[in-house]
Amino acid sequence: MPNSATPTHCPYCALQCGMNLTPLQDGGVAVVERPDFPVNKGALCGKGRTAPAVLASGVRLSSPLVRSGGTLTPATWEEALDRVAEGLARTRTEHGPDACGVFGGGGLTNEKAYSLGKFARIVLGTSQIDYNGRFCMSSAAAAGMKAFGLDRGLPFPLEDIPKTGCVILVGSNLAETMPPSLRYFTELRENGGTLIVIDPRRTKTAEQADLHLAPRPGTDLALALGLLHLVVAEGRVDEEYVRERTAGWEDARAAAMAHWPEYVERITGVSVPQLRETVRMFCEPERAMVLTARGPEQQAKGTDTVGAWINLCLATGRAGRPLSGYGCLTGQGNGQGGREHGQKADQLPGYRKLDDPAARRHVAEVWGVDPDSLPGPGRSAYELLDALGTDIRSLLLMGSNPVVSAPRAAHIEERIKSLDFLAVCDVVLSETAALADVVLPVTQWAEETGTTTNLEGRVLLRRRAITAPEGVRSDLEVMHELAARLGGERGLEKGFPTDPEEVFEELRRASAGGPADYSGITYGRLAEENGVFWPCPAVPGAEDHEDEEGSAGGEGTSPAVGSGSPAHPGTPRLFLDRFATPDGRARFVPVSYRAIAEEPDDEYPVLLTTGRVVAQYQSGAQTRRVDELNAAAPGPFVELHPRLAARLGAAEGDPVAVVSRRGRAVAPARITTGIRPDTVFMPFHWPGEGRANTLTNPALDPTSRMPEFKACAVRVEAVKS
Ligand code: SF4
Repeated sequence: MPNSATPTHCPYCALQCGMNLTPLQDGGVAVVERPDFPVNKGALCGKGRTAPAVLASGVRLSSPLVRSGGTLTPATWEEALDRVAEGLARTRTEHGPDACGVFGGGGLTNEKAYSLGKFARIVLGTSQIDYNGRFCMSSAAAAGMKAFGLDRGLPFPLEDIPKTGCVILVGSNLAETMPPSLRYFTELRENGGTLIVIDPRRTKTAEQADLHLAPRPGTDLALALGLLHLVVAEGRVDEEYVRERTAGWEDARAAAMAHWPEYVERITGVSVPQLRETVRMFCEPERAMVLTARGPEQQAKGTDTVGAWINLCLATGRAGRPLSGYGCLTGQGNGQGGREHGQKADQLPGYRKLDDPAARRHVAEVWGVDPDSLPGPGRSAYELLDALGTDIRSLLLMGSNPVVSAPRAAHIEERIKSLDFLAVCDVVLSETAALADVVLPVTQWAEETGTTTNLEGRVLLRRRAITAPEGVRSDLEVMHELAARLGGERGLEKGFPTDPEEVFEELRRASAGGPADYSGITYGRLAEENGVFWPCPAVPGAEDHEDEEGSAGGEGTSPAVGSGSPAHPGTPRLFLDRFATPDGRARFVPVSYRAIAEEPDDEYPVLLTTGRVVAQYQSGAQTRRVDELNAAAPGPFVELHPRLAARLGAAEGDPVAVVSRRGRAVAPARITTGIRPDTVFMPFHWPGEGRANTLTNPALDPTSRMPEFKACAVRVEAVKS
């Protein structure tokens, strides 16, 4: 192992902050600033700084666990792997391949996500694979595909933000989710630009805005339509751009014109003068951006909501122009790469579609299988979890904790318990792993090499800095061993190398020619450069040169230098010449407002919205095990307005119950004027009595199959002590 600093990236969110890991005498690592990485320039939030705490023995798992007599007990790897293979094989024999489910995660490296999709389809032969990224950004992905023909979270680097004129940030609390990114917005304002934040809560991010709009949760579709109405009414449409670079304007225009500002005010609670001011601030500068996150996306109409924001960008000529455009702020560490290489229900590597015959032929050839042997598309994440114990009898789960993170979580917990067999690969004994028949302890970020793709579409190399403890294996080794056991004499394990670079080399071939083309990216390049933006197709001469001059992965190798053809530089900025549609034009999508799936009524008169706090990450499986983070954010809470608190007779810190049609959660009251009186907020990082997802509504977006995490009807009750 290296005895000097190893440059790598944070294990948590999609910013993928650069950090150096320096070895400690006790075999661990310390996180040190890495100022040369441009995205965060050395800045880290508390989660990144404390990430090594999860490497400690006693915190992480260090031996396989097998359920015996009702309890999980330590076992050898051979016993555990045999048990997983037996469990999956039995299900396949008794109920068919589609009775085996596979559930992945947006934190898995590209290599793992790629291998997991391949494992499901050619080892298990199942169509039933999806992942928790479906809960994260799938609505933005679907809307981006419709409008632009391509989904890459940000079609431009973060460094463009300070140079634009105005940013509308919709449903994003960057101050809590990725604090180092806030500097881009601070610089924007220092440069004379303006920031508009749209959020039902006056978050720390909203406090930094020039204008904060606080619509009722689930109504930002109406808000975007009302803004577009005003853009038309005030003659602010960029007619030449619309004519030259888009299609479908008339229908979108007609839909928007039905959303009068006064009507939008009634729906959203945002006043007409605020709407007019937003339009003025957005349209007056030459350049402007709209960035969305989970607020507009985690709705049963998330695809339409994001589509309405994209329509606003298109009508004003903002998309596909320098320092302007629409982008989605992806959340999970590899939320972007994890949605490109095949762990999604409908997808093959390279962002290819599973129902596209040409895509099937291409990938089947790389995999050495008959295209007809590849299953078709399967269920989306919630639908897959909801089918556990009925159609799906066994589940292999990797890097996800749906007992805490899935909507209607108590129901999903029961579905998981009803499985014939559950195997979980994880670093820690998460709430879901605790229900498993077999738990396989796997390596984590500092102990393994692999690539991730950050929210900008920048492919990055995470490097191994320390040796994993004995008793722990990588997810790639797990898939190799299971392929050997389940493939019998077919020798399927040969298609599942344990060396991540070998997997990446195959991923390059599988992605070649696809929308997310990684074929021109090598470990060697990633070691030299601060990431490479996809698409980055291979240039034959450059690749020959690289093969001759150095192995991919070797430090100091640059395929862009030398006698061969120059390598493709990557694509930091998309759509500047044309969009990724057949005719190169962006598509307006006509959308109209509709209410959330579950409007408040007499029985459930308040709206619940959920989100994150800065010191915890997603389901909290890792961060809840870090003392410093727990001290900062020890447990769930219910944020509510003083008027609502007064009606309940609740004081700060009093336990209050939040009740929805799906269950009841109890947590201390946190009283603030920064939230609408008709809304309560709960962070979703904790299990147990305060589990916010006990309450959330699994109503699905018809296109993206995203559940409606962001708004459901509840009642709030004082809890008698
Ligand atoms: Fe950076 Fe996100 Fe890690 Fe915090 S959690 S250090 S913002 S990558």
